[in-house]
Amino acid sequence: MSEESLRARLLEALSDLSIDGQSQNLLASGVLRGVEIEEKLVRVHLLQPSSIPSAQRFAVEDAVSAALRGLVGERELRVLSAGQAAAPSKQAAPQAPHEEAPLRIEGVSQVIAVASAKGGVGKSTVAVNLALALARLGRRVGLLDLDLYGPSLQTLLGVREQPQVRGERLQPIELHGLRLMSLGFFVEEGRPVIWRGPMVASMVRQLIEDTDWGELDHLVIDLPPGTGDAQLTLIKTLALDGAIIVSTPSNLAIVDAVRGLEMFRTLHTPVLGLVENMSWFDWPGAAALRVLSGKLQETDPAMAAQLERLLERHERVYVFGQDAAAREAQRLEVPLLAQVPVDTRLRAGGDHGRPILLEDPDGQTSAIFLGMARAVGAIPG
Ligand code: ADP
Repeated sequence: MSEESLRARLLEALSDLSIDGQSQNLLASGVLRGVEIEEKLVRVHLLQPSSIPSAQRFAVEDAVSAALRGLVGERELRVLSAGQAAAPSKQAAPQAPHEEAPLRIEGVSQVIAVASAKGGVGKSTVAVNLALALARLGRRVGLLDLDLYGPSLQTLLGVREQPQVRGERLQPIELHGLRLMSLGFFVEEGRPVIWRGPMVASMVRQLIEDTDWGELDHLVIDLPPGTGDAQLTLIKTLALDGAIIVSTPSNLAIVDAVRGLEMFRTLHTPVLGLVENMSWFDWPGAAALRVLSGKLQETDPAMAAQLERLLERHERVYVFGQDAAAREAQRLEVPLLAQVPVDTRLRAGGDHGRPILLEDPDGQTSAIFLGMARAVGAIPG
């Protein structure tokens, strides 16, 4: 089908689509900003003011996807929403007149956000170990925990001090070669805080502007999980150089992670890549069986071979599915920065404030984080 006839069919389908609660169809309501057709891709740009609740915005995106999916053939379909009147262009997102420009942190070369669409997938664990890995590779690194719903940096790194104020500026805590700042220093543990949009923006601005970061090569920011209004506000408030999205390989988590990725793309923040966490579990009995199979090589080679086959099949257990994030990264054309196994020492280290990069600096899991740090910080191996 020619590009023009495909465009006509897409627009026709969209003109039949009405949005819940609105009398007009999608075209008449002005929500549709443009359709871009490429050889392998169709992008549909929507204008959805950020005042609309995110659930409603996503419902419109889902309805558009459902209406067009059957028409695009082999092409991939991406439905993107911008918060204000953004023409479908690759340039920086325009600012609404009342919005302040995103905050650039003076003296910091690269601001990296670590995000996830769901809680509990290991976002904070990745943020902390990535920061430590960058520091171990010789970089000057800051780590800022902005997880509004459960800042965990103090627990993960065993921080016991409070930041001091010097010359009206907050001094980050210096620990393990990192400069640390967290919302957790200012909220009472165990007492949930309900954050609203304007409060998020002003609190983050204040925390960042008042902190004496000094000169940093990288500032790693642990964002709150999800793709709601608070996250959107944070992303718009800060000038981010790149985002990393953490997901487990389960199909449901991946669907959400893609949504997170689209959120960053819509706001024109480069996605540095996906991290697949809890990719597999190495069965701990395997090492003992390998020793046994070695011993059996001479006396009973058939049994040794049988053991080897058993090990091949069962040594690595793919608890949440195999390689789903890897496949998704390929489909979305973003790098897969790392696959991190389930490692009981990662959990135990997190609970006791001793991250794996400090506990087992030369082990396999630390090597994975160092590889990730090299990719993110463009550090030659
Ligand atoms: P999030 O920031 O996404 O909520 P956390 O980093 O706090 O997630 O991790 C949730 C829990 O899972 C923590 O107890 C952490 O130690 C554990 N965890 C994270 N990644 C791994 C892993 N690869 N192997 C074992 N435990 C992990």
